[in-house]
Amino acid sequence: MPHRKQQRNTKQRKVILDELQKVSSHPTAVQVHEMARRRLPKVSLGTVYRNLELLDRQGIIQKLDLGGAEIRFDGNPDHHYHVRCVRCGRADDLHELPENLLRVEPKEACGYRILGHRLEFVGICPDCDYEKECPPC
Ligand SMILES: [Zn+2]
Ligand SMILES: [Zn+2]
Repeated sequence: MPHRKQQRNTKQRKVILDELQKVSSHPTAVQVHEMARRRLPKVSLGTVYRNLELLDRQGIIQKLDLGGAEIRFDGNPDHHYHVRCVRCGRADDLHELPENLLRVEPKEACGYRILGHRLEFVGICPDCDYEKECPPC
């Protein structure tokens, strides 16, 4: 029954989107699969991946390629910047930007018509930063 199958697909997609939008951790497909499985015990990783790809193409979520790390997914489709921890790979939204750094949006450079830009921030997250707060020895 194609109709019933379609309903199931829609339900699966809704759960996957819902789980992704609950977190701000920019999970990988494997992590989204783990989260979605709590509500859809039978859902396969392939199904989760296909739905994430589809939601990305529809502009409902975005796929993040944060250099060096696995592909991650973001439930927030709006353009924003991320910072990635070089120690554990954790990725967070960057809420404060260094002043003036991103003000310039070039239209042309070196004969290229510029369509956009990517800027990658890397750092050390609070959990990995043992240098920051050293408990008294
Ligand atoms: Zn870290
Ligand atoms: Zn984000």
